[in-house]
Amino acid sequence: ATAHIEAVEAARPLNAFLVETPEHALKAADAADAALTKGEAKPLSGIPLGIKDLFCTEGVQTTAASKILEGFVPQYESTITAKLFGDGAGMLGKLNLDQFAMGSSNETSAYGNVISPWRGAGDAQLVPGGSSGGSSSAVAARLCAGATGTDTGGSIRQPAAFTGIAGIKPTYGRCSRWGTVAFASSLDQAGPMARDVRDCAILLKSMCGFDPKDSTSLDVAVPDFEAALSGDLRGKKVGIPKEYRLDGMPEEIEALWQQGIGWLREAGAEIVDVSLPHTHYALPTYYIVAPAEASSNLARYDGVRYGLRETPQGGSLAEMYEATRAAGFGPEVKRRIMIGTYVLSAGYYDAYYIKAQKVRALIARDFDEAWAKCDVLLAPTAPSAAFAFGSKSDDPIAMYLNDVFTVPSSLAGLPAMSVPAGVDVDGLPLGLQLIGKSLDEQGVLNAGYAIE
Ligand code: GLN
Repeated sequence: ATAHIEAVEAARPLNAFLVETPEHALKAADAADAALTKGEAKPLSGIPLGIKDLFCTEGVQTTAASKILEGFVPQYESTITAKLFGDGAGMLGKLNLDQFAMGSSNETSAYGNVISPWRGAGDAQLVPGGSSGGSSSAVAARLCAGATGTDTGGSIRQPAAFTGIAGIKPTYGRCSRWGTVAFASSLDQAGPMARDVRDCAILLKSMCGFDPKDSTSLDVAVPDFEAALSGDLRGKKVGIPKEYRLDGMPEEIEALWQQGIGWLREAGAEIVDVSLPHTHYALPTYYIVAPAEASSNLARYDGVRYGLRETPQGGSLAEMYEATRAAGFGPEVKRRIMIGTYVLSAGYYDAYYIKAQKVRALIARDFDEAWAKCDVLLAPTAPSAAFAFGSKSDDPIAMYLNDVFTVPSSLAGLPAMSVPAGVDVDGLPLGLQLIGKSLDEQGVLNAGYAIE
């Protein structure tokens, strides 16, 4: 723990941590020492983790990287952090993120950009991906042994790919959402980000499990993912979805994909071509469904119950709401609230929201049909390597395009993982994505293990 605490202090210029909690990590380390001498070590005894600041942590400020939650100190622990700490892990601090997990570059945080430990051509500073950019940067810079992330449309997988680490989004419902700040409730899933597939398997086991406090939590057994980890893919079929081959996709992404196919074949898998015909509609569908749910979830920040309150002199209650929300939410959050409110409004609800829900069902059905032919899918994680700050932040559509390969499996609620698989011409990390059947995290982890 001490080495990690020192590393966190030395790496403050990365801006990965919003709050440092060395005392928490040290306490876990002491408890681990005591447990070890008694021969009672727990699965994560003393392991120092970073916690994305979207998870409520008892007694430690939780902001979702928004001004509107500044000063909010939860009186309770999220289920995910309670499980990790219950298994012996310690917390080094709370990690920066895109505000309310909305973004793909960590440039929407109210507390400044997170910088990737990687440098681009000409020593340019690069984005760590988003929204779990504090998590990816901190794990890649070896500030923590692992971190929690959340993934609504790619926020675990894309930042993992950008920084050369592994990250898995489990099946929707595997990890409890209780005590995690909500973005889009039908999509949000927590998951681990770590140095390799094995560490992800270990952390995932601790994070998963039924929680009666989350109505969408799945009451299913949690396998021992690490014990069953195997890179032997004999008898497995890996599908290559042809719709993920985009026009204008960089040559190096295509080459990486081919290389991944080769590795999986060497591991014994049979490679089959599959078609997911509605893939093309996933991005527009996601950018209707996610903002719709966000606009509803974010209605709770009214200046009364949490964090910031702006009280204009002599103003009414409505004016207090208005002033608080105007000052508290960042521009990307406001954009999502406006899109969401629009697509849910009377007159547009059928044309946009209901239509998007129908297309979402078709996207899920595409995957169901693919599973008749294969066990797991292989695709790129993102259409490019990490980019420079400011290169996409003025163009929301260009930014949203980053999520083109990650949102379909989110809409279908399927487990999906990014593993480090190679580098681009500038030596920057690139990731490959494995997408699995519902509840088959093991299949995803094993295929990832064969690539890593
Ligand atoms: N980049 C996507 C968005 O901005 C995904 C974010 C996420 O998964 N939390 O919505």
